[in-house]
Amino acid sequence: MEDIFKSSEFTALLQTLQQRPCEDRSDAWPVEQFAAMTNAGVMQWDQPEELGGLDLSAVFMLEGLRVLASTCLVSTFVLTQRSAAVRRIATSKNEAAKQNLLPKLLTGEIFATVGISHLTTSGQHLKTPLVHATETADGFVLNGTVPWATSATVADYLITGGTLDDGRQILVALPTTRDGVEVLPPVQLMALNASQTGAVKLADVPVTRDEVLHGPVTAVMQQGTGGGAGSLGTSALAIGATAGNLRNMNVEAQKRPELQQFLTPLQTELDSLSQSLQLAAAGTHPDGDKAAENIRRKANSLVMRSAQTWLAVTKGAGYVHGHPAERAVRESMFFMVWSCPQPVLIANLQELACSAS
Ligand SMILES: Cc1cc2nc3c(=O)[nH]c(=O)nc-3n(C[C@H](O)[C@H](O)[C@H](O)COP(=O)(O)OP(=O)(O)OC[C@H]3O[C@@H](n4cnc5c(N)ncnc54)[C@H](O)[C@@H]3O)c2cc1C
Repeated sequence: MEDIFKSSEFTALLQTLQQRPCEDRSDAWPVEQFAAMTNAGVMQWDQPEELGGLDLSAVFMLEGLRVLASTCLVSTFVLTQRSAAVRRIATSKNEAAKQNLLPKLLTGEIFATVGISHLTTSGQHLKTPLVHATETADGFVLNGTVPWATSATVADYLITGGTLDDGRQILVALPTTRDGVEVLPPVQLMALNASQTGAVKLADVPVTRDEVLHGPVTAVMQQGTGGGAGSLGTSALAIGATAGNLRNMNVEAQKRPELQQFLTPLQTELDSLSQSLQLAAAGTHPDGDKAAENIRRKANSLVMRSAQTWLAVTKGAGYVHGHPAERAVRESMFFMVWSCPQPVLIANLQELACSAS
């Protein structure tokens, strides 16, 4: 299976990502990069075998994400949001939705994304849910605002959910063309603007029972629907982005050998964390249930430190807008806010405040 990362298609994909870096603009959705991923068979990675997919094991999936993120973080991030949508469909008991959506997602005929953070991380301090679901004779009606949905602007389906009055939740596959669905323009972000991330308003949106993927059930995201906040996939991206930072810093260090003293310890830390990721993916990490959280905490710290080190060695030139080092610093901050579980955030804040006990 590891041959897929040595195939000529995968090599061509990495070349495309290297030679055609996504611009950091919200009108620059990575069309070409995504087409190259589809051509290289990446859309097969997460699909069930019976529907023509490869259903890669976690070890290979994470390795693929790590390598892709080391070359282009934004397109790999978009890929993870599509993958999250695919997982929610593939783990559903709704066979009709699976048969209808998964083959089209595999060929790239349709694109789907997730808007699910309001069920896990966003707005958890609010008394009323951000998306309210009401049961009707035919199914449900959704009202509210999905605060975050990456690439909803180009998505045919949004995998999202709502909370009923009794606290139970549903996850649905919602066509973005449905009456009452309004995909708002992407917000201006600190980085990763090409991901076209923004909110989606839902006003009296009818959902049929056929479109329900999971629930109604309490805490729908914790029902084995395919990974929650801070999954190993998020760490694979942070580790991959770090590898990209160190690769670039190494180019600088070839001309300035005195930089090796900073590069070497960061590289050692990266190698160790990459190994940890593999162990966790294989289910053999000594930290057991805590492995994902511990890896994400370390990956967040490392991606930020590696980006800042690269910026510092590039000096003022790296601080000029458009230099890849200043972009790497902005991109590294993403991991502090994206799908970041509370214990990870607290540990990272303690590190920043030097207040860890
Ligand atoms: C670039 C980007 C892309 C993303 N893409 C997706 C996606 O495709 N799909 C998806 O589902 N999610 C996505 N997310 C969401 C992400 O995973 C997190 O859920 C999100 O970043 C959490 O931030 P929030 O502002 O929504 O958090 P919130 O917790 O809602 O915080 C918002 C504000 O509320 C206030 N607040 C927070 N906690 C408290 C408190 N305890 N008491 C009082 N006030 C409080 C603070 O002022 C805070 O700034 C994305 C996020 C980013 C940044």
